[in-house]
Parts: sequence; structure tokens; C-alpha cells
Amino acid sequence: MTGSARSYAASGIAAGQSIVSTYSAGPFVAGAALGAFDRIGLTHIPVGTGNTERLVKAVELLRPQAVVMTPSYAAYVAENYDLRDSSVQRVLVAGEPGGGEHAFRAKLEEGWGAKVTEAMGIGDIGVSLWGECEEQDGMHLGARGFVHPELIEPDSGDAIAMEDGAAGELVLTHLKHRAAPLLRFRTRDHVVVKTSPCPCGRTGPRIRCVGRTDDMLIVRGVNVFPSAIREVVSQFTPQVSGHVLVKPTSAGVKQDPPLPVAVELAPGGEADPDAIRARLREVLVVQADVQLVPWGSLQRSEYKSTLVQR
Ligand SMILES: [Zn+2]
Repeated sequence: MTGSARSYAASGIAAGQSIVSTYSAGPFVAGAALGAFDRIGLTHIPVGTGNTERLVKAVELLRPQAVVMTPSYAAYVAENYDLRDSSVQRVLVAGEPGGGEHAFRAKLEEGWGAKVTEAMGIGDIGVSLWGECEEQDGMHLGARGFVHPELIEPDSGDAIAMEDGAAGELVLTHLKHRAAPLLRFRTRDHVVVKTSPCPCGRTGPRIRCVGRTDDMLIVRGVNVFPSAIREVVSQFTPQVSGHVLVKPTSAGVKQDPPLPVAVELAPGGEADPDAIRARLREVLVVQADVQLVPWGSLQRSEYKSTLVQR
């Protein structure tokens, strides 16, 4: 709980402010988050998941300084309601990658008229173990002293040093858990580490989650995460909406190129599929078959986005 409080507080939210949450989780996750909000001194306004009318009403009537939700849901709300002049100054996103992607974050900040920072945890170990500070340069380990982080190479299980720029699957060990502690728990989260000094003064290592190990595809020997594809495609904003759907042609992880990727256009947007394909090849070294689809044709999510169609 102390770790979660540190992670949320890193965002700049402070005692005396109020926060609207949209958690749908059971008592364990919701309880731990509630404890963390209490510890910071926040007034917690739970509205649950999937009731956007109620969320927007809560923002209008109760004038919270912050909201916490998944980045997909934050995008969904901003696409359907104009909240740019609301009381919300901070949008805390968690539950899936997205908040740390440059273009996606910019879109959320524009839509909400608020600063967006991300947090990350995992139910088995603890909620919001990591939280981004106002520098928006990766999530600090708020739960330092409570969990020990390691990196491994997902296939071999070999340890990777937690050095600046290192990438691998995050493995966590409980250090102070009293009942059923977990040792070297594989999170399946694929992260990139930053250890360079952060101007905020926090010394905990920072990470950015690039996707779930389970979502990873291997296209002619190259590891590709769907969220990384979305990040590259989003560079073509405002011509594209930022919604993508990867459509693997065969079951399993290994894919033969080209990898089909549906890219949704923004309202009135026009994009050159060849330019997007070239950019994907340049940044991710993946050969994609880019198919442009009209605005509104890819499914929106009120919880977590599905980036891969199986
Ligand atoms: Zn920082």
C-alpha cells in the first residue's frame, strides 16, 4: 500500500484533492488502491467501469482534480465527450500499455486538457508498483523495498542486467509479504529500463512497458509488439486515429511477412499506406501489409484494447 501510494503520488496528485476511479476489480485490487488514495489524503469517488454517463456526471458535479482509468477508456471518453475545460488536471492511466506512447499520450492530453501519467502493477504481486512522475519519462519503482525487480530473456530465462536501455520480461519477488510471498514471479510484461538520473529526484529505476510477452509476434526472426506498431502508426496523426488492429495470418507466435495491419484513418484523414509501411520497416524492422480503414470502423474499448485479431 505504501508502494502504491508512492507510485500514485509521483504523478503530482496531492492531499486534499479528489480522484474519480473506474476500477472494476474485486476487493483485493480496489481495496489496495483505496488504501493508497487514503494514505495520500485523497477523496476517492468510485464510479466503476462501463458507465461513461455516470463518469462524466461525476466529473461535472464533483469537480475532481484527477481520474484513474485504462488508457483505452481514457481515449474512448475523450472521443465521445468534450472534457477539455473540466476540473480534471491529471489523468492517471494503468492496466495496459499506451500511456507511455508519445503520440497516444499527446492525444489523451489534448482530449482531456490534462497531464497524463501512467502507473503499473500486477494483481499477483501488488497494484501500482510503478508510477510515473511529472517528467513523464518512465514509471519509477514506487514499491522499492517491497518488491525486487529483475529482467530475464523470456525464452531462455537468462538474467539480463537492469542497466539503462536493457529490455526483457519483468520478474518480481516479494520482499516483505507476510502470507504466500512469491519468488521470481514472471509478470509476462516486456519492459525497457531507464536508470539515468530523473530531474524529479526519485532514485528508483524507471521502466516503460512495451507489451505483454504473450502478445509478442515474431516476424521473420524479429520480435514485434502490437503496441509498438500502434506507437509508430500514431506518428501519422492527425491523418490517422491511432487505432490499429494487427491480423496475424497464422496461429502461434511466428508469422510470415508481410504482417497485415489495419490502420484507422482520422475523420477526414488521408494517409499514404506506403509511407506507413516504410516507417514500420524503418523503426521496427518488420514488413507490414498496411490496410487503411475508415474512421470509426475499428472497435473501441471501455476497458482494455484488443490490438491483435486472432
Ligand atoms: Zn522522476
